[in-house]
Amino acid sequence: ATAAVSAMALTLAGCASGQAQVASGSPTDPGTIGLALPTTESARWISDGQNMVKQFQVLGYKTDLEYAQNDVQKQVGQVGAMIQHHVRALVIGSIDGTALKADLAQAKAAGIPVIAYDRLIRGSGDVDYYATFDNFKVGVLQGTALADAIGLKSATKAAPKRIELFAGSADDNNATFFFNGAMSVLKPYLDSGALVVPSGQMEFLPVTTKAWDGKVAGARMETLLAGPDAAVTLDGVLSPYDGISRAILTSLQAHGYGKGGKALPAVTGQDAELDSVKLVNTGGQSSTIYKDTRELAKVAVEMTDKLLNGEKPDINDTKTYDNGVKVVPTFLLQPVLVTKANLQTVLIGGGYYKASDLG
Ligand code: BGC
Repeated sequence: ATAAVSAMALTLAGCASGQAQVASGSPTDPGTIGLALPTTESARWISDGQNMVKQFQVLGYKTDLEYAQNDVQKQVGQVGAMIQHHVRALVIGSIDGTALKADLAQAKAAGIPVIAYDRLIRGSGDVDYYATFDNFKVGVLQGTALADAIGLKSATKAAPKRIELFAGSADDNNATFFFNGAMSVLKPYLDSGALVVPSGQMEFLPVTTKAWDGKVAGARMETLLAGPDAAVTLDGVLSPYDGISRAILTSLQAHGYGKGGKALPAVTGQDAELDSVKLVNTGGQSSTIYKDTRELAKVAVEMTDKLLNGEKPDINDTKTYDNGVKVVPTFLLQPVLVTKANLQTVLIGGGYYKASDLG
């Protein structure tokens, strides 16, 4: 009882004297961690948030978790408010990696460490660490999965395979890494003529998808199918993310693919979202990339906790992520390709989903 009473007294004292106690942390109140994530419109970011909140709580921290629904200025405001409320550390999954410069300068001045979560924060020297997956490898896996699914190795200039390319949001540094990784696999075939992009749209910017929005990608697929792709049969589509993949598949189906002997093109994806995993299981989407958000949360939480305790966080990459001002020390996790062949072992066996989730 005495301990409870004195803990309460401490908390009350903390309140009475403003929020300084929260900012500095104390053995009885390690303080609040600000978690700023891009959107609840995609399942993965919901899991990221839940996983971090749970893991920070186990260590005794409180959390302020905010989503910005892909609105850049909203996220800038949320992070600014967290700094004003004296969070002890910031973990940020940015929307526009270049928009947070002023916020982070304030964080620096207030002694608040900053961890970039999944997406690199660019143009600021005030980002301390970066926790993410090997983003180039994600693209390599997507490109390889597409090449395998369409039998690209046996294609020739006389009998080429045909695909269209989609990339993620241009303001997200990851989108470039995914695209470059995939193109590192596909480019030799494009150069030899064994692989053809009927629209001719093969550069990054023309194939990007603003805010990773499935509707935007679905509309572009419609335009392509009604135009340059109308006279040909597509074998595949490079898609960077499951939400975009499903929209592309819907457009393809609306244009006669997947019925009457006209096979659905192989469509890649990312995030192992349940709706897409179900499609991979039944053959509708050809692959996805599994990134275990429980592991990423663990890395980010450990990094934060170590920083706040004056220890050095673990990193395994010191050269890849140059944000324009500094090379941000990074911990990279490994992404895993999921197809129908390994879906049960990886996702159900690994406990990410239950067998019953697949319906
Ligand atoms: C993440 C991907 C995700 C995409 C869209 C990227 O930054 O790394 O996992 O599919 O954003 O949310």
